[in-house]
Amino acid sequence: MIVLSGAALVLPDRILSPGTLVIEEGRIAEIRTDAASGGHADSHFAFHGHYIVPGFIDVHVHGVDGVDSLDMRPEGDAIGAIAERLPRYGVTAFCPTTVACGPEALGRVLDQVRRAREAPAARAARVLPAHLESNFINPEYAGAQPSGCLRSPRAALGSGRPGGSGGSRVDRSAKASAERAERPAERPDFTAADILTEIERAAPDVGIVTLASELDGGLDLVRWLASRGHRVSLGHSAATYEEALAAVASGARQATHLFNRMPPLGHRAPGLAGAVLQTDEVAAEIICDGAHVHPALIRTATTDHRRRVDGAPRGRDNRGQRADHGSGVPDAGRPRGSLAG
Ligand SMILES: [Zn+2]
Repeated sequence: MIVLSGAALVLPDRILSPGTLVIEEGRIAEIRTDAASGGHADSHFAFHGHYIVPGFIDVHVHGVDGVDSLDMRPEGDAIGAIAERLPRYGVTAFCPTTVACGPEALGRVLDQVRRAREAPAARAARVLPAHLESNFINPEYAGAQPSGCLRSPRAALGSGRPGGSGGSRVDRSAKASAERAERPAERPDFTAADILTEIERAAPDVGIVTLASELDGGLDLVRWLASRGHRVSLGHSAATYEEALAAVASGARQATHLFNRMPPLGHRAPGLAGAVLQTDEVAAEIICDGAHVHPALIRTATTDHRRRVDGAPRGRDNRGQRADHGSGVPDAGRPRGSLAG
């Protein structure tokens, strides 16, 4: 038996302070409303002045401690290495997250995700299906994403896939050479359709896909992904308020790093951010490091969320997931002084 006493315990509905947590055989056996001593405990730890919170579930993790999800590591899987390192930051489950990349690199990550899910490592964070910050984002809002890897949703679905461009089948090789000819020096050799082929191949390990729904074919891609059970997240996007609502009506259920890499919230043009804030069906990531989003807007977003979730019917309280972004929890900065997101 392990007893953790005297801390403020963050419970689903309140903070209990002081409180005592009794753990037996790896599970919480009792929560006591006191700061009592350990009694017959094998181990007793006094945590006065500390918080004890549930493990964080982070839906947006590119990497940590210098390990990136897309790294090729001779010493082993990048995903396994990230899972091993996350618990020290309080993260006990996470969606490994990729930036826009080619199908081989994507496939390598998704294979690692599958292996980690099939055989979870002891004392590591649980690996959840991946989050693809995908190739289908708006080049104008790409931020830290490699622009040479961005592709068109219309091109992806135009190659004869159901839900594609409604009968206007596009010859894939012709499309591929057209794409390559456009910006040959900057465009790695793969097509938009190759990415969907990879998503189909590894479907159970693809959880969340971030995209910009306002791109040509974007709403078709939202429907294509949502109908296959993937969670569509709106981000790196210039979507207007109306375009964002259309994406939600098509099945989008999340927003990627709310406020970052999307047009600013305007009082006459609320945009994607405004649509997310007023839509119960949509969960939102927000980067709470104090640098990516002004604390006042974090307060506004979370207060608004809490007020409406408190009054929401059961089953509707799916908003307000928060996730960190960037490589490493303590450091959200990116090379060249720009911020991720
Ligand atoms: Zn991003």
